[in-house]
Amino acid sequence: MTSKKKELELYIHIPFCIRKCLYCDFLSGPADESRKTAYMEALAREIEGRAGELAEYQVSSVFVGGGTPSVAEVGQLARLLWVVREKYQLTEDVEITVEVNPGTVDREKLEVYRAAGVNRLSIGLQSADDGELASIGRIHTVKQFEEAYGAAVAAGFENINVDVMSALPGQNRENYRRTLEYVTGLQPKPAHISAYSLILEEGTPLYERVQTGEIELVEEETDRLMYADTKELLKAAGYERYEISNYALPGRECRHNCGYWTRKNYVGFGIGAASLLENVRFRNTDDMRQYLKSPLECRRDWQQLTPGERQEEFMFLGLRLTAGISTDAFAAEFGVTTEQVYGDVIRKNLQDGLLVCAENGARIALTERGLDLANYVMSQFLQD
Ligand code: SF4
Repeated sequence: MTSKKKELELYIHIPFCIRKCLYCDFLSGPADESRKTAYMEALAREIEGRAGELAEYQVSSVFVGGGTPSVAEVGQLARLLWVVREKYQLTEDVEITVEVNPGTVDREKLEVYRAAGVNRLSIGLQSADDGELASIGRIHTVKQFEEAYGAAVAAGFENINVDVMSALPGQNRENYRRTLEYVTGLQPKPAHISAYSLILEEGTPLYERVQTGEIELVEEETDRLMYADTKELLKAAGYERYEISNYALPGRECRHNCGYWTRKNYVGFGIGAASLLENVRFRNTDDMRQYLKSPLECRRDWQQLTPGERQEEFMFLGLRLTAGISTDAFAAEFGVTTEQVYGDVIRKNLQDGLLVCAENGARIALTERGLDLANYVMSQFLQD
């Protein structure tokens, strides 16, 4: 850090995709060029217009997510990042991530990203099997992923995340293990791997097809075994599990996501983007028309968090990290100890082997079994 300004993370939402994946319920979809241009201009206005009120902060991370940010015209995305650079104070080592999909990037585009300061890429692969990719409506093939990965490396990216998914329709363990072997066998190795299990969201085409029996989901037991495969194979390949679903080579944890889990201040730009600023949560409208009309007047759902809500968040977000939470940080923030607020819950879960105290009580973390039952453990930290 170059000064004592408070740390802030920025999230920029690009809600466009070539085509909707069958399982996706994110705020994203196809759009024509004029709509995309209008949106990128509104985003630039919002980012620039908010700079004054955020002048006391220093930005340590910028995450451009979606949707598929790489669907935006490359010059427009680069200009947006220049607005960030020009209007905000960034830390010297700022992490700037852009999410991309195979089939939407080439070396030229990625070089423009690099020149605009992007130093981390997140590539959505999901599966190394073309049949599985088609079954969930992804727009790309494995070969296109390979081209995108090669282009990213050639453009100079060293910090690359690859997303994979388990429990896909028709997937068996052997296939899933092959996907993990494929990703860990890439040269050079990706710095980071996010591994999530497919979640069936109501209202998606996949949900409808499962309801009509057209598609069958994998059995719960297979899903569980795939989860164990993730841990085993990624560990064997040198990745450290630092969060329930995230694995990294040493020192390559995603700064942006760690910020969410440790409740750093973050501000989201674009439709539907959420923010947490000085213990107030709010989000932008998800109405595109309203956003395009007045991107600086579309915040809503304001929630000033109470001390109790902040303590709950501190615990159940922080416990997602395998390093767990710092009891000193809790006491410093709230003026009470974890023992005073959560003594009974902590003792019970220590006895049940779901929590562990480390560093002479300075940290509390989930055990391996606690990570498997994370939702159950975390629910106990909710206050009445
Ligand atoms: S590319 Fe991502 S955001 Fe777009 S439809 Fe597919 S899963 Fe959703």
